[in-house]
Amino acid sequence: MGAFLGLIVGDALGAPYEGMQRGEFQFNGELKRVGPDNIKAGQWTDDSSMALCLAESLIDDGFNLKSQLNKYAEWFEHGHLSSKERAFKIGRNTSLAITDFIKKSTLPPEREYAAGNGSLMRLAPVPLYFCNDFDKAVYYAKMSSLSTHNNIMAADSCKFLGAFIYHALKNKSKEYLLESSFKKLDLDKRVLDKVKGNYKFKEKKDIISDAFVLNTLEASLWSFYQTDNFAAAIKKAINLGGDTDTVAAVTGQMAGAFYGRKEILNKWINNLVKKKMIIQIITKLYQVKISE
Ligand SMILES: [Mg+2]
Repeated sequence: MGAFLGLIVGDALGAPYEGMQRGEFQFNGELKRVGPDNIKAGQWTDDSSMALCLAESLIDDGFNLKSQLNKYAEWFEHGHLSSKERAFKIGRNTSLAITDFIKKSTLPPEREYAAGNGSLMRLAPVPLYFCNDFDKAVYYAKMSSLSTHNNIMAADSCKFLGAFIYHALKNKSKEYLLESSFKKLDLDKRVLDKVKGNYKFKEKKDIISDAFVLNTLEASLWSFYQTDNFAAAIKKAINLGGDTDTVAAVTGQMAGAFYGRKEILNKWINNLVKKKMIIQIITKLYQVKISE
């Protein structure tokens, strides 16, 4: 439950600061009241809505890209599993893919520019569903990108995070997660370059926290590496500025999977909008996860 709740908590805490410059604010763990777009404390965004849609699709239909897109379309058109009445803060590639799917029922073609962080931010339900089968966890983590982000950098970033979460759920050490979780994966070289450890030697000023998937992945690994508890990792991620909600959502998946649900501050969980619905979906996903 930690990886999924970590995603949603990170998204909700980061959302009020989305788009703000590094240094322009300081997030200390407090629940800020209102952010851009009238975001209230605890109000999660597209990252969490899409993750909940993905989870609901896995629960209803197993792994099926068209079922996932149907759920995303429900969210996009009718605000299904949104923290507000409607969907909001939708990424460009996601919007394009869903609009095409609604019109033509097709999956998006490979796109050179579909290398945003929109598929990485929602990933956790996939490795949770396949938590008893490593090969399936990484294969379907990669596949889950293709509904909206048919791009090798986005897809292989998902593959890496799928393996990371899988191993974290098996109680592997932090050292193992950061040094070895990627070793058996056949990753695109650009993704491999980001995950193999150069971030350990980088200072904050060298970390870019925008919506390009490789930057989000590196910023999240850096935030996780630099800290030793869930709250500190999330604070580190948000204080990078930029795409704060998604960098914190990805960091939250890593840190939540590693430290576990009990390490996520109760005040952060209790403050989530529609908390009961979130817990119900996560619990259901846990119940239907595939067995060995
Ligand atoms: Mg968002």
